[in-house]
Amino acid sequence: MKNNDCLFCKIAEGSIPSSKVYEDEEMLVFKDIEPKAAVHLLAIPKVHFKLISEVDANQAEILKRMLTKIPDIAAKNGCENGYRLVINQGADAGQTVFHLHIHILGGQSLEW
Ligand code: AMP
Ligand code: ZN
Repeated sequence: MKNNDCLFCKIAEGSIPSSKVYEDEEMLVFKDIEPKAAVHLLAIPKVHFKLISEVDANQAEILKRMLTKIPDIAAKNGCENGYRLVINQGADAGQTVFHLHIHILGGQSLEW
């Protein structure tokens, strides 16, 4: 399901450009526009879902498949020595885009 006002839905459909590093039928991985680490990628499902707290069984299956693909994608994009996966949930975490996304941070030694 698509949300017309959602930035990441627009990136997923290609109407807003992104620096893609990986794409398949159900997920897209692109470079974060304001990187917080030497390598900062965002992995998104192409279908719109908002929050980790609202994930249903079908969405959990999509997330599971995304997680199985991320190690290879990370390793091929400068995170051979490790990386951190982050999902921000809600205001206290500073979530700004309400289309579920997994931050992939690496390419350097991370402080914590
Ligand atoms: P969050 O704070 O977890 O919601 O993360 C949203 C992330 O999306 C931030 O790290 C932003 O830098 C990133 N971002 C916002 N707009 C774009 C864009 N057009 N292309 C790539 N990344 C973006
Ligand atoms: Zn969306």
